[in-house]
Amino acid sequence: MKILFVASECAPFVKTGGLADVIGAVPKSLGARGASVRVMLPGYPALASQIADGTVVSTYDDLFGGAARLVAATDHGIDLLILDAPHLFDRAGNIYLDETGSDWADNHLRFGALSRVGADVAMNGIGDWTPDLVNAHDWQAGLVPAYIKQAGGNGPPVVMTIHNIAFQGLFDSYLLGDLGLSADMFTPEALEYYGRIGFLKGGLALCDKITTVSPTYARELMTADYGMGLEGLLRARQTDVSGILNGIDIDVWNPETDDTLPQTYTARSLKRKTKNRDEIRARFGLSENATGPLFCVISRLTEQKGLDLLLEALPTLVGQGAQLALLGSGNADLEDGFVAAAKQYKGAVGTIIGYDESLSHLLQGGSDAILISSRFEPCGLTQLYGLRYGTLPVVANTGGLADTVIDANEAAILADCATGVQFTSVTTQGVEQAIIRTCDLFKDQKNWAKMVRRAMGHPVDWDRSAEAYLMLFTSVIEDNKR
Ligand code: ADP
Repeated sequence: MKILFVASECAPFVKTGGLADVIGAVPKSLGARGASVRVMLPGYPALASQIADGTVVSTYDDLFGGAARLVAATDHGIDLLILDAPHLFDRAGNIYLDETGSDWADNHLRFGALSRVGADVAMNGIGDWTPDLVNAHDWQAGLVPAYIKQAGGNGPPVVMTIHNIAFQGLFDSYLLGDLGLSADMFTPEALEYYGRIGFLKGGLALCDKITTVSPTYARELMTADYGMGLEGLLRARQTDVSGILNGIDIDVWNPETDDTLPQTYTARSLKRKTKNRDEIRARFGLSENATGPLFCVISRLTEQKGLDLLLEALPTLVGQGAQLALLGSGNADLEDGFVAAAKQYKGAVGTIIGYDESLSHLLQGGSDAILISSRFEPCGLTQLYGLRYGTLPVVANTGGLADTVIDANEAAILADCATGVQFTSVTTQGVEQAIIRTCDLFKDQKNWAKMVRRAMGHPVDWDRSAEAYLMLFTSVIEDNKR
């Protein structure tokens, strides 16, 4: 089976969030099961060396305002197809935002071009490699089915994957021509979305099947509270929608071998985690003699993540004798709030603003618990890293968080199956109660350690989900032949 992935980020090359981890990991798992997967990515500066060393497989004299080439390269075990279009992608800074923090003004062209070239490869292949199926990810790849349809529809089936429906790629309708799309694409059955062009909407309307990253999010997306305007479309297509839980790359995230940690450890040598905890305390300015658990947060600081609630719950956290180490960046008010909190609760709250991959490993490798208070969470990855590192997830009961963490209620404790704490009311009070409950659980160190060991044994790899993707892809390809 030959599969073309089209996506805007891929770890370890370029990452702003969970999407990158998934695109970096799934092709490898599918490859291990015999599939041939190629991942098409924009040619950002982070991919310059792969572009220089790669092989040009096709060229464009004018791709939305400049010359472009498609370059094949293999790195970190991933077969890449890189869209080298300097006028669109060769720029410093954030891959989606300009220096003022606004979307790049030509994002429609940048990701329209990615989709357009994705559709070309889907239909014509490269050399003797022609995909049997395209898996297009999020709005940035949302126009792939539209370009295939416009070219006559003679392409392989397309599965669209929703990683976060909050990002939809909406653009003014007058840009349709710039994207090389004809007016008959601008209909409610295709790209039109409340008078604008909807990249994700168009993808969801025109693709063959839809997946998202957890079963609970798949159900939530069909409701007005979570569907963000697309719930009607998703309900209408509900038999085509499936939720396949994300896994994590257990080679990259392995406390036994993680060389970014001062001290590696296993479920049988939990005491060794102490050295990592000490390092966190030193780096975050936390005192050494706290009585409660050390919570961490590793997150984009946005409304979605509910960290405004945690800010309000800090007096409770500190009052319980617990500590917090937060690593994140994003919303300026939240950044300022956590920086101020670190001053106010000196020694109990530590804040580092920024994006730091190895520090995120240290936090997982040394904290007692990881707090995730998201208002919605398609899957979430940090709770999965938390399970693997024995850093117990304390999570809102939503999306993939609900699917991956077993709450330490009385029944679950008696049945020996709890792996963390869940809270249903995503409010300041809900967060406070979850913190108090976690602190109470932490007082019983023997049972806490049992829970930690159980969490570390919880399956978080890609095995089951890779099988689920393969089954789905196989059935879509078969259906398409009929
Ligand atoms: P989302 O994709 O919504 O941001 P996920 O939990 O799915 O949330 O994935 C977030 C990914 O980004 C995880 O791999 C997490 O470790 C990482 N991450 C988030 N913020 C930071 C940060 N400030 N520094 C390092 N890694 C971060």
